[in-house]
Amino acid sequence: MENLNDFGKVYLIGAGPGDPGLLTVRGKSILEKADVVVYDRLVSPAILGMCNSKAKMVDVGKMPTHHKVKQSEINKLLVKFACEMPSATIARLKGGDPFVFGRGGEEALELVAAGVEFEVVPGVTSAIAVPAYAGIPVSHRGIATSFHIITGHEKEKSDVPPIAALQGDSHSGAEGDRIQCNLSLDFENLAKCQGTLIFLMGIANMDFIARRLIECGKDPKTPLAFIEKGTTPFQRTVMATLDTAGETIVREQVTAPAITIMGGVVELGKTLAWKKNLPLSGKRLVVTRAAKQSSGITSRLTALGAEVIETPMIETRDVFPCCHAGLRSGISDSSENKFVEPVEFEDLKNFDILAFTSTNGVESFFKQLFAAGFDVRVLAGKKIASVGKITEKKLLEYGIRCDYVPDDHTGEGLGLLLQNVVHDESSILLLQGNLADDTLLKLLPKATRRVVYETLPVAELPEWKREAIASADAIVFASSSAVENFVKMISNEKTRHSERSEEFCDSLDPSFEKLSQDDVVKKASCISFCIGRMTEASARKHGFETITSDETTMDSLVKKIVEYYTMGKNA
Ligand code: SAH
Repeated sequence: MENLNDFGKVYLIGAGPGDPGLLTVRGKSILEKADVVVYDRLVSPAILGMCNSKAKMVDVGKMPTHHKVKQSEINKLLVKFACEMPSATIARLKGGDPFVFGRGGEEALELVAAGVEFEVVPGVTSAIAVPAYAGIPVSHRGIATSFHIITGHEKEKSDVPPIAALQGDSHSGAEGDRIQCNLSLDFENLAKCQGTLIFLMGIANMDFIARRLIECGKDPKTPLAFIEKGTTPFQRTVMATLDTAGETIVREQVTAPAITIMGGVVELGKTLAWKKNLPLSGKRLVVTRAAKQSSGITSRLTALGAEVIETPMIETRDVFPCCHAGLRSGISDSSENKFVEPVEFEDLKNFDILAFTSTNGVESFFKQLFAAGFDVRVLAGKKIASVGKITEKKLLEYGIRCDYVPDDHTGEGLGLLLQNVVHDESSILLLQGNLADDTLLKLLPKATRRVVYETLPVAELPEWKREAIASADAIVFASSSAVENFVKMISNEKTRHSERSEEFCDSLDPSFEKLSQDDVVKKASCISFCIGRMTEASARKHGFETITSDETTMDSLVKKIVEYYTMGKNA
């Protein structure tokens, strides 16, 4: 949380058209620290995965009841979060650019009216980027000297706020008797326009739009392209002409989100279409991974065209002194966790040296220190030790310089260093995670160890991830422990789900329960790609259907996945 205001600050952020690489650097940095993310349906799972893992994620593209949240309710929600969360960072994440048919202006007006500070982070709009990914430049010397972005769908008048309502034109309904559609576009002028026409949200009305343009004099042979799910692994381009637009949509089953681009520039797409159809294009794969670090397999599968849903299966949590009992009961396998006592800050006076062995440890320690009402002055006069440079740098962020850092950046190095410089080992406090090994304590047997954070299987999947997993084509397991952790995570989900099902889920649409739990298990278990026989055995034990790499290497696993999807029947 960065701003110190009575209200939270709202950032209207454009997520771009789909490809996570098209999110702006500014957008990403805000999402990484956001306390709340209010997001739309079209935002890709990969971008949602970049958000601060502790952020409250609110899907306004669809409620559990499968109804879209009304714009007026979204506006109110943003104001509510801002009022209830002083100093918080509230990200309003929208597809494309927030001010291009994104209703960002309406949200901003509401924020201004409520006195809430906001900022706009523009995004790459689908109107320009999607044609670019299909090799169609929206302007081209000698072909199009302007381009026009038009909505092919207008909102209900009842949902139009006063300012927008003033801008409605008088053409509406003129052609309504021939073809049912309440679009109030100025077709006369659009038909005369020599520039490229780009329609957003226009698929449902395109038959009507094309006929009206022809009626108003536009050449029926004007080239036109529908680009579906542009910039994503599911991108598809369908070419047509103005007079075949409607029938082409039906025949080719063009579905939203798609843009329609009309004009001479469309022809260039035949030569310039640069986005290759890759072996895994159109496949959504779940990849499980250990912790924050990214698994190498994700970038390889992405490069082959797949959409990869990365699912970490363990997470770190702070251990607050007041949660002491919870810590004991929360960790099932206590044999792994011999040193589960959290820090008591009153006891810090008994120690001369504080030793940190991870950045997680540093972050958790200070978070707890501040939450307990103390500040860095309790560390005055103490010596600080760090296992290595990264932890040292993290300490510096809190204004603390390290006195001891071993050259080799290992626990053993730190233990030996402290042995040499300290006379009374009992004055050393080791601040570690619950899974830290015994190295330091063996070298410094009189030191005291306290747990400042714990590593546990992920307890709860965010809703967007449950949905992404439920719609995946397969899951990729790169180790037996990945299988075990995934199953543990799913059963955690099950417990969590059944615990709250009575009071919470019963009040929701019945399909919510089905989607969030059964589908996750059913879908995720339909096909699993396993690295080698051991992983295969674990996956089978838990009822997964398996396809196994010939060798226990990433190369072999990736090869197997490609083979499976390019063999014809599974593609
Ligand atoms: N603010 C957005 C547009 C929101 S309106 C932007 O700047 O891109 C939603 C419409 O945008 C969709 O109906 C579709 O026409 C278009 N759209 C958004 N993402 C798209 C994508 N990946 N591929 C094709 N069309 C897309």
